[in-house]
Amino acid sequence: MSLPIQAGLHRSCCLVDTQALTHNMQTLKRGLAPGAQIAAVVKSNAYGHDVRIAWRAFVEGGATWLCVDSLHEAADLRDDGYTGNLFVMGHVPPMHARTAQRLDVRVMVYDKAQIDALGAAANDASTPIRLIMKLETGTQRQGLRPDEALQLARYIARFPYLVLEGTCSHFANIEDTTDHSFAQAQLKAFQDANDLLAQNGFRPALRTIANSAAGILWPHTHFELVRAGITCYGMWPSTECYVSAKLLGKDVDLRPALTWKTIIAQVKTVATGSLIGYGCTYQTTHDTRIAVLPVGYYDGYDRALSNLGYVLIRGHRAPIRGRICMNMCMVDVTDIPDATAGDDVILLGSQDRETISAEQLAAWAGTINYELTTQIQTSVPRIAV
Ligand SMILES: *Cc1c(COP(=O)(O)O)cnc(C)c1O
Repeated sequence: MSLPIQAGLHRSCCLVDTQALTHNMQTLKRGLAPGAQIAAVVKSNAYGHDVRIAWRAFVEGGATWLCVDSLHEAADLRDDGYTGNLFVMGHVPPMHARTAQRLDVRVMVYDKAQIDALGAAANDASTPIRLIMKLETGTQRQGLRPDEALQLARYIARFPYLVLEGTCSHFANIEDTTDHSFAQAQLKAFQDANDLLAQNGFRPALRTIANSAAGILWPHTHFELVRAGITCYGMWPSTECYVSAKLLGKDVDLRPALTWKTIIAQVKTVATGSLIGYGCTYQTTHDTRIAVLPVGYYDGYDRALSNLGYVLIRGHRAPIRGRICMNMCMVDVTDIPDATAGDDVILLGSQDRETISAEQLAAWAGTINYELTTQIQTSVPRIAV
């Protein structure tokens, strides 16, 4: 038992199950409304799963679009050979307009300074740039009110090489509650804004508002494109979303794709009454076998798991004792007598019949599965299996 050879000199690594990623995409695709396409959201290093591993698995599963947050991420995908539809949903500063043109991405737009810069870049290259306008429907993040959207659409029309291809909005709380009245109001605001544009001669062909939760729960929000993130990775947006799906009779088989594993560095026996780790926050109540693990909060193993979380060793749960250190942590293996240095340790994932899910870890750490997997340091090697 040891880490795969690809982990090199690292003491922990993440295994990424590419079949699970492909399976999830195929599953989500089956739930699409007629005429809708699906984008895999691969921002933030594919939610921590390694974008270079994940995008191929999603394309194999039928994704016809990829969404990222930044041009930096878009450049990485182009560099890695992705030539398909690519949508940069986050901020593209005017000074990067030429790069957007060169990378052939869809740009999310919401102000005139962007349009000026993109218009100039498109003119210079004599090549169209396709724009997707962000509509404000209640999240109060990026986005324009309907009157502002109409003004910007008119402004875009002045530039011969700019194409207003789509409109976009984002739900604020569809995954946070089983009461979907706010999301319904957002959907109506989205339709109203699109109607206003249409009445004035603007009919962007690509409307997109659905995220993972809407993708699963509400086919009538799919329009031309669903932007699915968390579900592509086999995780549910929330318990509320899972419950809502069950109530709607939806049977969606999502498979988590990430396993984070390390090894035991050292096992030692400490006497009753010993204090463990920084701050002396844990005191043993009996002679205790402690395993030291070479993983800490620098790696993204949340310090909030101190004295709260568990890891898996030889198919059993071992509780974390004391505080998580920067590069190490300690667990109690008194009840796992066979545990020895070099043993596999599962921080996230399954071993034998036991599982520590991202949701479970997130609950212990006081956060959500989204943050849990994205905070695993990029320096921790990701290995496709
Ligand atoms: C991250 C993000 C998504 C994906 O959200 P999930 O809940 O992971 O599906 C979709 N759209 C935008 C604009 C986003 O920022």
